[in-house]
Amino acid sequence: MRVDELIANRSRPLFSVELWPPRSPAAEARLEAALAGLSRLEVDFASITYGAGGSTREHTHELVIRLRRDYGLLPVAHLVTAAHTQADLEAILERYTRQGIENLLALRGDPPLEASCALAPGEFNHAIDLARLASRKYSMCVGVAAHPEGHPEAPDFEADMDRLAEKLEVADYAITQFFYTADRYARLRDALAKRGVDKPVLPGIMAPTSLSTLRRMAELSGTSIPAKVAARLERFEGDPAGFQAEGTQIAIELCSELLAMGVEGLHVFTMNQAATTVAIHEALFGSRGA
Ligand code: FAD
Repeated sequence: MRVDELIANRSRPLFSVELWPPRSPAAEARLEAALAGLSRLEVDFASITYGAGGSTREHTHELVIRLRRDYGLLPVAHLVTAAHTQADLEAILERYTRQGIENLLALRGDPPLEASCALAPGEFNHAIDLARLASRKYSMCVGVAAHPEGHPEAPDFEADMDRLAEKLEVADYAITQFFYTADRYARLRDALAKRGVDKPVLPGIMAPTSLSTLRRMAELSGTSIPAKVAARLERFEGDPAGFQAEGTQIAIELCSELLAMGVEGLHVFTMNQAATTVAIHEALFGSRGA
């Protein structure tokens, strides 16, 4: 099953999750607990992250295969151009294709800072190169990343929307970086419509789990934290349970607005924990699939 087909044939908004491959026994146990929690929900697909430096190559592959085999989930494998030569990327795509994996999220990743790790000239510099390869040579269903506030390296929002529109001419759909006001999503959709692009864009949802993590991730991704959201969360500093409840509520309110706008689905960054994702799902859809 391909994600573009799921989107096209949906009778309700999709609900999908992002997981990352565990790299220690403790992380493995957390993932198992998360998967047990998520099994109460009807998850349309699960995307599995890929370490920017290529460090999760085998872990990502193993989890992609395991989610399908042991949990009956539809996996979407993330892959990044920053970590690999074109030959490496082809080897990875060939292996996935042999194993019947049809869905890829094509990303650039963030290139390593050390010059010694830089890719040689002629290798892929942008996600669009990988999207093209996976779509044309391997006939995969390809998703790409979208940045509702513009990618931090782009000269400005409009320039990044030009790049996103080009990516979406090749790719089948996009998933956004996290954001906290629905108007950011609306602005992105408008910018694409202005460029004649109407491919699906699934909003990426991240319920804040702590202020320090939120600020770090927001800075890395160029996401702004609205003053209203910051003020709501700051009241719960030093109270992890209260913070989590408020963070979940903020995510639920955002998702409700997005659903009212007619989004094709919601993609939740689970951080390998089920509780918040389950709470969001139940608030929006009840105990669907339970
Ligand atoms: P690109 O599309 O290549 O864009 C990067 C920059 O280059 C942008 O500024 C863009 O405007 C510009 N650009 C694009 N194409 C061109 C072109 N042809 N010419 C000139 N400029 C161009 N990172 C990971 O390492 N692993 C993951 O698993 C992962 N998963 C993610 C999942 C989602 C849903 C999202 C939103 C992000 C994810 N990321 C992940 C982060 C992502 O790798 C970074 O945001 C990265 O900085 C940009 O990736 P991209 O695919 O958008 O890059």
